[in-house]
Amino acid sequence: MKHDAEKNGIKTNGVEKNAVEGVRTEVITLTLPTPFRVGPVHAYVLVGEKKVLYDTGPLTDEAWEALSAGLKAHGLTIRALDALVLSHHHMDHVGLAGRILREKDMPVYMHAKGLPYVQHAPDFMEARKTFLSDLYRASGVPESLIQAAQEIQAYYQHFTEPIKDVIVVGEGSIPELPDWEVLHVPGHAPDQIALYDRTNGRMIGADHLIQHISSNAFVEPDYGTIQRPKSLLVYREYLKRWLKLPITIVWSGHGEVVTEPYALIETRLKQQEERAKHMLALLEGAPSAFEISKKVFPKLYEKEMPLVISEVVGHLDWLVEEGHAVLEENRGRLYYRPHHTLSAKHKGWEGP
Ligand SMILES: [Zn+2]
Ligand SMILES: [Zn+2]
Repeated sequence: MKHDAEKNGIKTNGVEKNAVEGVRTEVITLTLPTPFRVGPVHAYVLVGEKKVLYDTGPLTDEAWEALSAGLKAHGLTIRALDALVLSHHHMDHVGLAGRILREKDMPVYMHAKGLPYVQHAPDFMEARKTFLSDLYRASGVPESLIQAAQEIQAYYQHFTEPIKDVIVVGEGSIPELPDWEVLHVPGHAPDQIALYDRTNGRMIGADHLIQHISSNAFVEPDYGTIQRPKSLLVYREYLKRWLKLPITIVWSGHGEVVTEPYALIETRLKQQEERAKHMLALLEGAPSAFEISKKVFPKLYEKEMPLVISEVVGHLDWLVEEGHAVLEENRGRLYYRPHHTLSAKHKGWEGP
């Protein structure tokens, strides 16, 4: 579908000027380096009556320099900012928050589910570590890879520092951005929030929708409950919600501006369906999630085990939820087998 970005006066090449009437907030893209495989991350400054920074980049000197230089190129400084919005707790998006706040104290907004992560709440971090190790173990992951994942996780902590005072936002708006709506968009992360300008259909969406890579629906514990959220199912639900919203442009956390959001969402939903179908074909012999990982991601399953297990478990959840597969537990291990007595509804593939 054709978008209205050009009509709205938005250039889609990274630096946006919104000169057309009705667009009250200018969106400035700041591209910041990260030391991670994902590559650079985008932070955004929304300049209306107030100046609001959405995301910060990781806690590195390089990202700090790029942030300062990017602000300066637009005649801004950190001290000129009025508020900070954190899209979700991943370190490439929030790492510099503490350093920014030392430069200038300002309100910080985030979803409640992100709080224990950015505050490094010790009991939560410990419970999360146990949750993930238990999940990996039950999925058949060897101890050496679980150990390696824990070490990487501990290393990642160096790219954030705990921040204390956070103002919790759900859906709604924040005082500094009266023209923008905060939308909760869980799936990739349980706490992710987007900013949506309903008047013009402009969306700042972090990692919910990325042009060049499919976002991982990372399996995370749900703080305060014993249930494991089925993150891929949550992600699909919230992707579909965007199909019903008028959206002209999406500024993502990584990569190009998305100018055909509906087409990209349909592509992502289809890819998930194809992947689930592929996994369903691998369930003879009742494998574990780790055994399936080896087959579906032969090059990545060791190097990127946490991401791969999330991806595989997410799709298996979906197959189980829709009655295509059955989950069986045997001595603490989880195995998946195809459901052979499918109901009429499930004969053939209608998509999980
Ligand atoms: Zn992320
Ligand atoms: Zn990201």
